[in-house]
Amino acid sequence: MASNNRDPATSQLSDYKKSQMDSNRLTTGTGAPVGMKTASLTVGPKGPILLQDFVFTDEMAHFNRERIPERVVHAKGAGAFGYFETTHDIRKYCKAAPFQEIGKKTRVGIRFSTVGGESGSADTARDPRGFAVKFYTEDGNWDLVGNNTPIFFIRDPILFPSFIHTQKRNPQTHCKDPDMFWDFITLRPETTHQVSFLFSDRGTPDGYRHMNGYGSHTFKMVNNSGGAVYCKFHFKTDQGIKNLMSEEADHLSGANPDYAIQDLYNAIANGNFPSWTLYIQVMTFEAAEKFRWNPFDLTKVWPHAEYPLIPVGRMVLDTNPRNYFAEVEQIAFSPAHMIPGIEASLDKMLQGRLFSYSDTHRHRLGSNYLQIPVNCPFKSRISNYQRDGPQCVNDNQAGAPNYFPNSFSGPVDNVSHSECPFKISGDVMRYNTADEDNFTQVGMFYRQVLNPAERKRLVKNIANHLIGAQEFLQSRAIKTFGQADPEYGRKLQEELNKLKLEKGKTSSGVQANL
Ligand code: NDP
Repeated sequence: MASNNRDPATSQLSDYKKSQMDSNRLTTGTGAPVGMKTASLTVGPKGPILLQDFVFTDEMAHFNRERIPERVVHAKGAGAFGYFETTHDIRKYCKAAPFQEIGKKTRVGIRFSTVGGESGSADTARDPRGFAVKFYTEDGNWDLVGNNTPIFFIRDPILFPSFIHTQKRNPQTHCKDPDMFWDFITLRPETTHQVSFLFSDRGTPDGYRHMNGYGSHTFKMVNNSGGAVYCKFHFKTDQGIKNLMSEEADHLSGANPDYAIQDLYNAIANGNFPSWTLYIQVMTFEAAEKFRWNPFDLTKVWPHAEYPLIPVGRMVLDTNPRNYFAEVEQIAFSPAHMIPGIEASLDKMLQGRLFSYSDTHRHRLGSNYLQIPVNCPFKSRISNYQRDGPQCVNDNQAGAPNYFPNSFSGPVDNVSHSECPFKISGDVMRYNTADEDNFTQVGMFYRQVLNPAERKRLVKNIANHLIGAQEFLQSRAIKTFGQADPEYGRKLQEELNKLKLEKGKTSSGVQANL
């Protein structure tokens, strides 16, 4: 609750004070009461300090270790908690626990983020936004780890580390480098679709409440009879889409780098709970065989006219984190965290992420990261044969057998929970996916989705960034965008010419995480 006309985020400390009867007894990490917190234990008033001063060394040593590695991508983010409520029956497609009853509510945790910037970077930078949802179900935690875009820059995960390097800092100058960005983008034109989203108005959403979220990948849904379909997930914002214009986003990057975190915190604290409606698109295996594009290509969408949105339910965020580090910095999402009824598709990007997300959490948080309360599947009791490891903080499954099979009442498997079988064959080789129709959907986006004013801003936003890159990269970019639509390339050339004429024009306009 806000006090003295200050917003809830700004008045958090005074609100905390009001909620307390009194101050607690101050202790060391071992729970021993502390006599004086403002002076170290010294021999005489001038020192030196005694090594026996555990009050000091306990606190200092812990302080030295306060930071854990920040996420290499999605480092800056905001979190919240709430529920997902099923409003429509999709059981003919899916047996996943949250969808088994109309009106059923499943607790969720969510983390929104930017992608390329460090954990102190500006919330309003031009960048995709992460949109990761953890469903705490009785069949375990299910994470839908997507973005605010239904597509992505690349379609083969082997390119991911290189792609991200081009969004980050130059290894020598430690500055963002438009040459790196535009070199990679124009050498890999499958990026054109997502780059066009990125430089459109939706590249700078107005906080996290006014944007859509997408599972982005193609997944598989399996029903209670073992029947399976491919599907995509779409969370549409109930607040309506709202974006920041470049100038405003640029200003806020300096004036309030935490704009989006603050906006989400305040909305929830004021009881103005943001919500999203979840839809799915469904494609049969037969239709997938005949689809004119690869249905598992993450640089493309499934057109709505052929694969209409099917409503499923509503997600409401009604609870702020009680502690940022415990519940947001440590929340660990992975596309590999699936539950019966939701399975992976062939999507190469998804396959790559199934490995990399859990791997990064083991590095950042340790091999027992699933024991951290915010990650712990509290609706499903953990019974398995994993033991020990750093920071094991529960009873380590006490006296239960730690090997399988066993004759001593250890947990048992059940074939009814097996993955849905499917046939697959093909020649093993490294398939070059650089040229798999990179432009048809970009052309549709440019011509049919954007209105003339949006097209103009898209071109201007690209030009403002591209102007920082070398001439040969500019020419290559113009050619690339022109392949999506001749007007797109032509207008970009015109805008660049205009900028070059403007004396002293060297900066890239809006701050970008690029
Ligand atoms: P539709 O006309 O049926 O749908 C267009 C979609 O574009 C809507 O989902 C709309 O989402 C979204 N949209 C509107 N403005 C923007 C914007 N500035 N940036 C990003 N998305 C926007 O088209 P199709 O399904 O036939 O697809 C045509 C093109 O639309 C695709 O090539 C793709 O570029 C784009 N698109 C398609 C999506 C899909 O899943 N089919 C999803 C998003 C974009 P909203 O309801 O939020 O306004």
